[in-house]
This record gives sequence, C-alpha cells and structure tokens, in this order.
Amino acid sequence: MYPKVQLHIAGEWRDARSGKTMPIVNPATAEEVGTHPVAGHDDLDEALEAADRGFKAWKKVSAFERSKIMRKAANLMRERVDTIARMMTIEQGKPLAEAKGETLAGADTIDWFAEEARRAYGRVIPARMDGVMQIVVREPVGPVAAFTPWNFPVNQAVRKLSAALCTGCSVILKGPEDTPASCAELVRAFLDAGVPGDVLGYVLGVPADISGYLIPHPVIRKISFTGSTPIGKQLAALAGQHMKRVTMELGGHAPAIVFGDADIDKAVSVLSTNKFRNAGQVCVAPTRFLVHESIADEFTQKFTAAAKAIKVGDGLEAGVTMGPLVGARRVSAMEEFVADAEASGAELRTGGKRIGNQGFFFEPTVFSNVPLSARMMNEEPFGPIAAIRSFSDEEEAFTEANRLPYGLAAYAYTRSTDTAEKLASRVESGMISINHHGLALPEVPFGGMKDSGYGSEGGSEAIEGYLNSKFVTTMRA
Ligand code: NAD
Repeated sequence: MYPKVQLHIAGEWRDARSGKTMPIVNPATAEEVGTHPVAGHDDLDEALEAADRGFKAWKKVSAFERSKIMRKAANLMRERVDTIARMMTIEQGKPLAEAKGETLAGADTIDWFAEEARRAYGRVIPARMDGVMQIVVREPVGPVAAFTPWNFPVNQAVRKLSAALCTGCSVILKGPEDTPASCAELVRAFLDAGVPGDVLGYVLGVPADISGYLIPHPVIRKISFTGSTPIGKQLAALAGQHMKRVTMELGGHAPAIVFGDADIDKAVSVLSTNKFRNAGQVCVAPTRFLVHESIADEFTQKFTAAAKAIKVGDGLEAGVTMGPLVGARRVSAMEEFVADAEASGAELRTGGKRIGNQGFFFEPTVFSNVPLSARMMNEEPFGPIAAIRSFSDEEEAFTEANRLPYGLAAYAYTRSTDTAEKLASRVESGMISINHHGLALPEVPFGGMKDSGYGSEGGSEAIEGYLNSKFVTTMRA
C-alpha cells in the first residue's frame, strides 16, 4: 500500500547514514503509514559531491538527448499514475481523482520543458567592426538546491526538476517530509528514464538544517523554493549572502473580485471549486472574495450552498470531493482563523469546525461581512475558509485587491471589457485570471510579485531562471 521511503544519493536509493527516521502520517486517519530517513550532513556531502560530478557530465549532454530522456520520464509517470496517485492520497489526503490529475499534469509539464529547452537559443549582436562576431550563449547555471512543499507533492517539484534538468543543471531536491513517497516516484521516473544517478539527488530531513547546509555550499549555484513568505525571505537572505540565484514561489492571498455585471452562477461554480480544491491548501486559491453590493446576497447564498454540497472524507473513498488538511497544525490554524473572525463580527454562513476527532478534517467554511481587520483578510488562510465582503464602487475593490503585501494570483468576473482591461493593468499580482480559472499550465508563467516572491515556475520564463547568459566576442585573427 505505502512504500518504504528512501533518499536518493549518488545513484543509490538508501537510508540515512545515521539510520535516523521520522514518521509519515496519513492525515485521514492520523495513523503512521511509514517513515522517512533524516539526512545528516554526511549524506548531504555525498549528495553535493554527486551533484558536482553530475553537472559536469549532464551539461555536455545535448538538449536533444536530454529532451528524449525527459519525455520518457513523462510517459513513465503516465504508466504509473494509479500507483503514484494512491500513495499521494494516503500521505497528503487529497481525493484520488485530484491525485491522478496532478500526476498526469506533472507528465505534461515534463513534456513541455523537454521540448522548450531545445529552443533555449542564444543570439547574435551586430558588431561595430568588420571581422568581429558577438554572440550570447546560454549555459546551465550549475547544481541546484530545490525545496518543495507538501500541498502538491508532484506538481511543485516537477516544475523545479523539469526546468533544471532540461537546461543541463544537476539538482538536489529536498522533498516534502509530510508527503515524501509520491515525490520520490517523480524522482524515480526521471532516473528510470535515463537521468544519470549523480544528476538527481533526493533528500529529506529537518528542513532548516538541510537548507542551512545546502544554500551556502559552494557547489550549489541556484536555489528554488516554494513555501511560505516568512521562510522564503529567510532563504532568499541566506542565498543573497552567498550570491546565489533564486526562484521564490511564496504565499498569496488572492482577491476574487465579482463585479455587478458578472455571470454569478459561473463565478460561484468556478471560484468555489478552486477555493476548496486540495482543502484550500493551494498558494493560488481564491481567498478574499470581493463582491459588488448589488449581487452580494445572491453570490453569498449560492457560494454557501456550493460549500455545503462538498463531500468531505478520506480521499480514497468514492465520491469524496475534499480530503483532510495535511496535519494537526493546519487544523489549529483554521480554528484560530475562525475564532478571530467570529470575534471580529464576521458572519459565519457555514462550517467553522473540525470534523470528528480522527484525522485532520475541517468543514468547508464561509464567512460574510468580514471586516478588513480580521486575520483571515490579512494572513493567507491556506485552508478551506472563504472570506466574503462587499464593495460599492470599483475603486474600493482595486484598493482592497492591492492592499496586502502579497501579489501572487488574482481572479475577477465581469462582462465588461473596460473593467477587464482595468483589472489587467491595475491589479498587483503575478497572475490574473478573468472569467475563468486559467492558471498553472506548463506553458504559461507561474509566479508572483511583492512578498509572493520572484522568478517564474512556468513558461519560458522558468527556463531563464536556470540559465546564465555568456557573451562571447571574437575578432578574425
Ligand atoms: P511551514 O512554513 O513550516 O512550511 C512550508 C514549507 O516550507 C514546507 O514544505 C516545509 O518543509 C518548508 N520549510 C519550512 N522551513 C524551511 C526551511 N528553513 N528551509 C527549507 N524549507 C523549509 O508551514 P506549513 O505548516 O508546512 O505550511 C503552512 C504554510 O506554508 C502556509 O501558510 C503557506 O503559506 C505555506 N505553504 C505554501 C505553499 C505554496 O504553494 N506556496 C505550499 C505549502 C505551504
């Protein structure tokens, strides 16, 4: 049912040298389903030596050959989807259908990067003198330390691994300790497809210890992190001290603005699905619902009905549309948000409580009339809580959308092209999706601005993060 989880270092799947392990828990039952090794500095040193060797060899492999290996990895993910998805649901909690969708989307991401890196062209710059040739060549940046979270065990990691591997970088991936088995299967697919063992390392352990060791290490040239804004700032500061390039995909608090002329049913359907997907543990989940006062009652009633219709349970059971939160810490976080919202005068429309005392289930929760001072209007809820408030004129909506330091995703519903144009130019976010949910495809940029980080994890922009531009000028001898 659930595999033995190991590290992958220098071509070998193995335990930590110290033999230390930590438990892995199924969030639907709170039962231990396995353990993962805790890598020590001796293990990390071996992984770093391998990454150094691996980079020197992999960068010489042509983009054409790398692409073939990667496409094979994508097909292995497709062949193994049932096994991987089951592991993911057991360790992460999401419904099996979501886990399957994530695994297959991961395969599509690998395919896209495999192809795109074949087009990582340089350029020729017209010279000022006859006999001079000026060119820009693109080179892989070097060994990468990548840190990936538990909410999408495959789909956060696959963006980092694909972008690094397709450009010729080696990678040490610190996997998610809560959900390490399905992420390990992604690593296995690359290795089984022919990525050399030295090129791709997989480590698990104490996150701060691993990042504190890898980021300053001279072998590592690039850092990629997905996680919370406070941790991202710490890691970016450490990377800055050592002049390492970084891609930071951090927290968000996405405004979802529903204007008076919107298709309300469509807005409710798309926004509620995306609010509660993965129990709300999604960095681009809509979280601050700003609804025009002329439709606020209708929207809130329909949105609340959609939340009540969600079937919460063990993701392995048929018909379940929302699983548990990843752990007890997220249940406590939800309880604190709810208590604070109630004290602030917000109106609870549905939910608000933990479900049962086994596993980490929480009711899909909707609050309306939430004051701006409530914690849930300021801190990323990262759970199944929707905060709705109304606005009377569009200036108010734009001001609220841009009020927070976050700037990852934003959503809006309107039939007016004029309003859509204003949204595109005025909302401070790395991504904005209007009248549908169109984010996170492999071929489009994925990333934030302000405290949500910098760099992209999608589109050709993602590949840029793993390449140096080298200028070469040659005069005829
Ligand atoms: P957390 O901040 O403890 O951990 C978040 C992620 O960062 C985990 O994967 C963790 O292993 C990693 N991490 C933590 N400290 C680290 C360090 N010093 N070095 C390297 N990695 C480190 O919080 P949590 O309880 O696991 O998750 C809740 C919060 O994390 C949420 O509020 C959300 O903002 C954030 N989060 C964001 C994403 C995302 O997709 N951007 C994903 C998961 C979690």
